[in-house]
Parts: sequence; C-alpha cells; structure tokens
Amino acid sequence: HTKKQGGNGLAFYDASFSMPLQQRADMIRLLRYGLENEEFELHYQPQINLENSRIEGFEALIRWNSSELGRIPPDQFIRLAEESHLIIPMGEWVLRTACKFIRGIHESEENKPIVSVNVSVVQLIGHRFEERVLDILRETGLDPCYLELEVTESMMIESMDLVADKLTRLKEYGINIALDDFGRGFSSLSHLMRLPITTLKIDKSFIEHIPENQEDQPLTGLIIQLAKGMGMKVVAEGVEKYVQLDYLKKYECNCIQGFLFSKPLPALIARDWIKAFSLPIR
Ligand code: C2E
Ligand code: MG
Ligand code: MG
Ligand code: MG
Repeated sequence: HTKKQGGNGLAFYDASFSMPLQQRADMIRLLRYGLENEEFELHYQPQINLENSRIEGFEALIRWNSSELGRIPPDQFIRLAEESHLIIPMGEWVLRTACKFIRGIHESEENKPIVSVNVSVVQLIGHRFEERVLDILRETGLDPCYLELEVTESMMIESMDLVADKLTRLKEYGINIALDDFGRGFSSLSHLMRLPITTLKIDKSFIEHIPENQEDQPLTGLIIQLAKGMGMKVVAEGVEKYVQLDYLKKYECNCIQGFLFSKPLPALIARDWIKAFSLPIR
C-alpha cells in the first residue's frame, strides 16, 4: 500500500485495516470530533448535459478540514468512517446539507439542477435508511426527483438482494439511483440488470483511455449505447480534455463531469459558477 504523510506526521493508508490499532483509534476519535465541531464541508461539482447545454446537476463531495490534521481527502477517511459506522451520522449530514444547497439553487435559478449524493453501502443497509432519506426530503422540501443517490458495486456484492430491495423502494419514491465508478475493478453487467439503476456513471479510468485516434477504441462508446439502450442516463466522470468531450458527444453520452468544466466548488462559489456558466463549444 502507498503511504502518505499527514500534516503532523500521522501516516495514512488507503486501506485503513492496515493502520496500526492506536492510529485507527486516534483517527476515529478525530472523525467524531470533526463531526461534532463542523469540520466537514461539501463541495459541489457541476455535471453538464450535452444535449441541451445546461447544468444537469451537482455532485456533492465531502471535504474534511481537521483542526488537528489539516485537509484530508475523502479517500483517506471514508473507509474508516464506514468501519466505525460514523458514516451514518456523517452521511445524514451530507444528505441534509446537499438537499438544502440544491433547494437554495432552485429558489434563484430557472433551471433546476439535481443533486447527486454518494451513499456508502454501510449507510444503505443501516437501520431505516429509506425513512431517513424521505424525512430529509420532507424536512428540506426537496422533490425526490431532484435527488440522486450514488452507489458503487464494490461493496454490495454480499448484500446484493437487500441493496436491490432498498434501492427499488427509493426509486419508487422518485429518487434517482446512480451506479458510480462503472468500469473500475468490480464491474459486472449483471449488476446493471439486478439493480434499479437510472444513471450510469462511467469511471474516469475509461475516459482517460479515450485515445487521440477515436476510431481505435469504441469500448466506452459501446457502454454508453448499451446503458442508453437500457433506458439509463449516462454520465462520464473525469472529463479533462476536449478530445474526450468530442468523443463523448460523438457517442451521445448524456452528461459529463470533470475538471474540463470545473473542479468541485464550495457552495457559494458553485452558485456564482452557475451565473457565469456557458458551454465551451468549439
Ligand atoms: P466519486 O464519487 O467517484 O467522485 C468523483 C471524484 O473524482 C472526486 O474525488 C472528484 O473530485 C474527482 N474528479 C472529478 N473530476 C475529475 C477530473 O476531471 N479528473 C480527476 N482526476 N478527478 C476528478 P474526491 O472528491 O476526492 O472524492 C473521492 C471519492 O470519495 C468519491 O469518488 C466518493 O467515492 C468518496 N466520497 C466523496 N464524498 C463522499 C460522501 O459524502 N459520502 C461517501 N460515502 N463517499 C464520498
Ligand atoms: Mg460519486
Ligand atoms: Mg465513488
Ligand atoms: Mg465516481
């Protein structure tokens, strides 16, 4: 595993199970402290609809500004939050904050973008998850059709039936369900059949490999067509280059998300970004 050095010398591992026990306990304590002391923040990354050139939605991405450790990216704490079940209160805070954010946008914008929220399987199979989501929608007054929940395949293999049931219920209420990181590691076409997916998010590893010579490799294009043929919306993640945008347009990908348009932005900056947005068509 790659080892990274935190601000005060604390070492982090991608896989928290390989962390020394004392360090794990320290991190869990800091996560709990962070939750109680509002050290977390959401950034929002726009998703652009290529068919109507509008802002389709925003993905909410959590940021941790730890008073003790400094800025820690989600890849370095989500797993530990899951293992310690702190992901449950954290995830609720994320959902509520994201729903409030998009409600605020709807009040000032004619165009009504959706908000996409990453949900861990620990949260999903946790106690009364569906009820908690519906409570938050009611509390924030957001219509379910403007919420999308993003799930990944990697962790749900064992609890596939339970996950499928829960997601189906949520979908019946009008909530959108996205399969995140499709094409990374675990992907299986059978998940596309078994899960009630409304949106397929193609992982950035697929976008990265879009070749300069577009005739060479239609694989990503075939996935887009397959998913669209199954009635799904397709979002490409990690779009950084015009050559990728051109390819995705050619294969009629519905939406794109990536640094080409914007990195994830703090809420206030995201609001200004909407005002300034225009699609950089060449
Ligand atoms: P993800 O859901 O696949 O989110 C997309 C990640 O790709 C984000 O990383 C985003 O900043 C990054 N990204 C976006 N566009 C580009 C691009 O053009 N190029 C490159 N190289 N990267 C791009 P981030 O914010 O560090 O989040 C990492 C992962 O952490 C997320 O991957 C998601 O799995 C997890 N995560 C983030 N926020 C939450 C949360 O609130 N709850 C849960 N359960 N997981 C979260
Ligand atoms: Mg995501
Ligand atoms: Mg993800
Ligand atoms: Mg992803």
